[in-house]
Formats: sequence, structure tokens, C-alpha cells
Amino acid sequence: MLDGDHYVVTGAKTWITHAARADVMTLLVRTDPATTDYRGLSMLLAEKPRGTDETPFPADGMTGGEIEVIGYRGMKEYELGFDGFTVPAANLLARGRPGFKQLMATFESARIQTAARAVGVAQSALDIGLNYALDRKQFGQAIFEFPRVANKLAMMAAEIMGVRQLTYYAARQKDEDKRCDVEAGMAKLIGARVAWAAADNALQIHGGNGFAMEYVISRVLADARILNIFEGAGEIQAQVIARRLLEDGN
Ligand SMILES: Cc1cc2nc3c(=O)[nH]c(=O)nc-3n(C[C@H](O)[C@H](O)[C@H](O)COP(=O)(O)OP(=O)(O)OC[C@H]3O[C@@H](n4cnc5c(N)ncnc54)[C@H](O)[C@@H]3O)c2cc1C
Repeated sequence: MLDGDHYVVTGAKTWITHAARADVMTLLVRTDPATTDYRGLSMLLAEKPRGTDETPFPADGMTGGEIEVIGYRGMKEYELGFDGFTVPAANLLARGRPGFKQLMATFESARIQTAARAVGVAQSALDIGLNYALDRKQFGQAIFEFPRVANKLAMMAAEIMGVRQLTYYAARQKDEDKRCDVEAGMAKLIGARVAWAAADNALQIHGGNGFAMEYVISRVLADARILNIFEGAGEIQAQVIARRLLEDGN
């Protein structure tokens, strides 16, 4: 709501990564309460004081709490509440369709970088699985010598190569300012699946040890799980791709 020379923000947002330590936020807010679609939305650039462990959200009109998660703990997750949080009116970035489009424009790069993170998780699973398969001896030989173990690693390597190239392709399209929602969606969709399959197979190679928290592969499995959810769940990426199949008449 606009009140003189500032907006007064009220509402809640679940899932904001690194919210406590951020100095500045983009807020997509409804500035026209009579609307229900993008036309009543505006993008605001809001400054906030950086929080500490003791006082994560020192800003007036803003509260928050950490969400405990099963993996990917290098990032910290928060839910936020706004009640009388103020943003100067001069910090309005865009109103209506342009504001919504600003948000949409971030999706392609966010999905490409998430695909790249998935490639990293998958590569880490392959490296850990390969090392374990060479170290662990059963029946007088490294378990790598068992074809069903080596085949798992070979499939990981092949799938990682495929999705890495797809991710590079999407990134190159983005660098050249070409529309790449489908390529970004494909890279994110396949990247998340490849990372999960690689983590699962590398854990399987560890046998019982894979289920122990002492072994790093158990953490990699938990880390891999989120990739198919954030920055648009797999179902949403599939929807983006399927729509374009119809648009292009394929
Ligand atoms: C660790 C983590 C960090 C995050 N960080 C941020 C952040 O920094 N900033 C931020 O804004 N958000 C963040 N998010 C939110 C994240 O982007 C959403 O959780 C994600 O997009 C899924 O939305 P949702 O949780 O509302 O699920 P829902 O939309 O409720 O979906 C639930 C299920 O229904 C399916 N579904 C929903 N709609 C459709 C549809 N139209 N067609 C088919 N299936 C559908 C989904 O695919 C999913 O399987 C984060 C989430 C997590 C878990």
C-alpha cells in the first residue's frame, strides 16, 4: 500500500534463501488490491540491515525464522513476515506487466545455474562412487571389477556428460540474449534427475556404509533431492517444455 512517499508492506513469504544476511531484497508485492492477476503487482527494491545469528531480522516491520531442512545445508532457509515494513516510493522498479516480466526474466538464468549446480552434485557423486569402488575389496578384488558396479559408474559418466553439454548450450543461448526458456527448463529437469540417480547409485556402491552419516555420499543424496523442487519443480519445467511443443507445432 502506498502511503505518502513510501510503501507499507504486509504479508508473508515462505522459503527465502539467505534472507537474514541479505542487505537488499526484491519484493514482488500487490500494490493494487482490487486486482487478482499480474496487473496489480509491483517490483520493489528494499534495503534492510544485515542480520546476525543472535538477531537475524533487525528491520522494523519484518520478522523471520529459520526452516530446518534435510540437505543442502550450505544455504540457510527462512520464512518471513512483513507487518508495516516500509520501502521508499522511489524504490519502485516496475509496476504491472513490466514488474512481473522482470521476475520472469530471472527464471531462465536461475534454472541454468540450478542445472549447473545439479551437474556439480552429480559429478561429486561419480567421484565419490568411483573412489569407493576402487578402494573397497570383496572376494579378493576391488568392487569396481564387478560389471554391475562399473556399469553404474559408466552410466553416471554418460548422463553427466549429456546434461553438462545441455547446460552449456542453454547458457550460451542466454549469453547471446536468445529466448531459452525451453533449454533452461530441459537442463534443470534432466540435471535434477541425473544428480538424484548419480547420488542414489553412488550410495548403492557403498553398500551399508552408504546409509551411514559418516560417509559423505549420504549427504550428497540429501543434497541432490532439492534440485527437482526449487527454482521451479520438475512438473513445472515439463509444463514449460510441453507448451512449446504445441507452439512450435512439433
Ligand atoms: C531449499 C529451498 C530454497 C528455496 N529458496 C527460495 C528463494 O530463495 N526464493 C523464493 O522465492 N523461493 C524459494 N524456494 C521456493 C521454491 O521455489 C518452491 O518451493 C518451489 O518452486 C515449489 O513451489 P511450492 O513449494 O509452492 O510447491 P507447490 O506449488 O505447492 O507444488 C506442490 C506439488 O504440486 C506440483 N504442482 C504445482 N503446480 C503444478 C502445476 N501447475 N502442474 C503440475 N504440477 C504442479 C509441484 O510440481 C509439486 O510437486 C525455495 C524452496 C526450497 C525448498
